[in-house]
Amino acid sequence: MKTGTVEMDEIIAVNTIRKDFPILATTVNGKPLVYFDNAATTQKPWAVIKAIENYYTQLNSNVHRGVHHLSQRATDAFEASRKKLAAFINARHDYELIFTRGTTESINLVAHSFGKQFVNAGDVIIISALEHHSNIVPWQMLCEEKNAVLKVIPINEKGELLISDFKEMLDEKVKLVSINYVSNSLGTINPVREIIELSHQKNIPVLLDAAQAIQHLPIDVQELNVDFLAFSGHKMYGPTGIGILYGKEKWLNQMPPYQGGGEMIKTVTFEKTTYNELPFKFEAGTPNIEAAICLGAAVDYINSIGLQNIQQYEHELLEYTTDKLSVINGIRFVGTAANKASVVAFTIDNMHPYDVGVILDQLGIAVRTGHHCTQPLMDFFCIPGTIRASLAFYNTREEIDILTEGLKKAVSMLA
Ligand code: PLP
Repeated sequence: MKTGTVEMDEIIAVNTIRKDFPILATTVNGKPLVYFDNAATTQKPWAVIKAIENYYTQLNSNVHRGVHHLSQRATDAFEASRKKLAAFINARHDYELIFTRGTTESINLVAHSFGKQFVNAGDVIIISALEHHSNIVPWQMLCEEKNAVLKVIPINEKGELLISDFKEMLDEKVKLVSINYVSNSLGTINPVREIIELSHQKNIPVLLDAAQAIQHLPIDVQELNVDFLAFSGHKMYGPTGIGILYGKEKWLNQMPPYQGGGEMIKTVTFEKTTYNELPFKFEAGTPNIEAAICLGAAVDYINSIGLQNIQQYEHELLEYTTDKLSVINGIRFVGTAANKASVVAFTIDNMHPYDVGVILDQLGIAVRTGHHCTQPLMDFFCIPGTIRASLAFYNTREEIDILTEGLKKAVSMLA
């Protein structure tokens, strides 16, 4: 298909790329799997699957603690992966990257540690109406504990942040702004550069929840000048149970440890413990070594395709999808921001999203239905939930056609 000025296949050779993902060749309910739940988790390429096998057959050992050969090799691979991730987001130093369990733990780490050090009674934390629960609840818990105030940047009906309201919220009481780069429920790409600049004018640091951005857009933390960035491995074609908290050295150095245990210490006596350097100060206990190493393999894989190509291809596919689905009787798109990543969320008049999801599943089509961990956002739109198709670069126009036909069938069955 011709889109814009180029053929989509010239951007990404999708049929070749699909062979990298063995699960895409499987069937569900006797039908070829059509996987549109990429915002929840992405599928894994052979490069990552083989890296996992390689780790357990060639490298398995605990890191940082052993002088023996295997431990040194595992440690080297673990730290090489940190370097790769640092280069991927262009961090100034690799020790500014902390391995966590994922975005949720990264945000909780900042809420606990930054919160303990810098947030006091009467202070304000700003989030937005678009946030995932994992960028709401940790701040609520902190505000409750510290008697601080949580403020929320409002949105318009398209699902775009109201920046003029945000500007008015910024004063000396605000200690941190924590917002997502891309909304998981609507796909809105937020104007994060502007948000960071406005916040910095008042010396307020910014945390970006990049769980839905890291796999779609090139991110340069130095160019963005962002203070903290959180993301998950499993949403970027890597393993589950691993993620990153990037923090500027100047902040991480001032923040107390999040958890105590092995690895995060320099010396321990019963009277006093001294803490390790960055990044180990924030990495108590045995990390998820296998996943950290294999996340490096996912980064290599993404780099081999190129985030610019991914962004362009997914944008074309988003337009194709929006166009195709608009013919469905009673469809209402939820989230129509001018700047969107490849998430298409909608409701269909008089139909519960769950019922539609069940019919699609019978046809082998995986979409997500419900509130997508953004209940306040669903409340804003006065709906219980949506049907969400979240697209990746291995999805095709043919799959969108199958979804369109599936939805027509659901409509005729449920009408
Ligand atoms: N933030 C956003 C925007 C998300 O979409 C998600 C997961 O869907 C999360 C945070 C939480 O990510 P995880 O469950 O990997 O910690």
